[in-house]
Amino acid sequence: MPRAAAALQTVLDEITEIARASENRGKVADYIPELAGVNPDQFAIAVARPGQPPLVAGDVDVPFSIQSVSKVFMLALALGKLGDRLWSRVGREPSGLSFDSMLLLELEKGYPRNPFINAGAIVTTDAVLQGSIPREALGALLRFIRAAAGDEAIHINERVAQSEIATGHRNFALAHYLSSHENLKNAPDLTLGTYFHQCAVEMTCAQLANAGLFLVGGAGAPRLVSEARIRRINALMMTCGHYDGSGDYAFRVGLPGKSGVGGGILSIVPGIASIAVWSPGLNHYGNSKLGTEAMERLASRTGWSVFGPDTRQTDG
Ligand code: GLN
Repeated sequence: MPRAAAALQTVLDEITEIARASENRGKVADYIPELAGVNPDQFAIAVARPGQPPLVAGDVDVPFSIQSVSKVFMLALALGKLGDRLWSRVGREPSGLSFDSMLLLELEKGYPRNPFINAGAIVTTDAVLQGSIPREALGALLRFIRAAAGDEAIHINERVAQSEIATGHRNFALAHYLSSHENLKNAPDLTLGTYFHQCAVEMTCAQLANAGLFLVGGAGAPRLVSEARIRRINALMMTCGHYDGSGDYAFRVGLPGKSGVGGGILSIVPGIASIAVWSPGLNHYGNSKLGTEAMERLASRTGWSVFGPDTRQTDG
């Protein structure tokens, strides 16, 4: 292993050790019954760099439910289909509210703040589904993710999707509200069925880090979207990817990131790397608690940040 990779591997091993020893691990999402039983003691991290094998540490063989991280891939597909016309249906501003909040949607007449809160993601999915059927839209999503990751084994966990279909009352409320403002073009059940399946995509940390390489750009990275689009998706991840915790994540980590209630986080170091971390316990924003702490440590130890390196010498 080259020296730089070996040094990075040591950092990942240390971060994993600290995470494993952590007592306060956050709270596993239990509003989706199938996720409630996931063991909170698990932790994994992976760093993928264009043209190099990913570096991994922790429970790297365990696939997890990527949940809202899938919104990044669906957004790329929707922008590919509609281009800037997508912005007539969904905004580009942080919401400052939780991922499933309804408050602003009523005030702002069915125009969701951004594509990463649930309401906005449901619109994005609806846009990809328009003129198609759920199986095709999900097929396109899986093709995109598999091409980005270079891995044909990535799949959807049907049990997780069905579990959310049975209990996703807030998402049904959001979808019907969007429909009342004519911001859904398909029947709410069809769009939601597609959305719940997209959230149920399962990956290991290494698969997710590889899948994020399309947002890294530069030589050797998979070219699935233009440089201009990479820049904009990264901007949205920075400002909206962690919901009402986005400011805190930017402050602590300084990298574009997208979280999911399965406990996964995907973060991009533009031009350098794609990082995936997973730990199922969530903080009060609904983002992985240990995952956020691990990203903060990694950014600090490597100097990776779009705002300049963290020059603090301590771990605090
Ligand atoms: N499927 C979840 C939901 O719609 C995704 C939320 C998330 O990961 N933050 O509630």
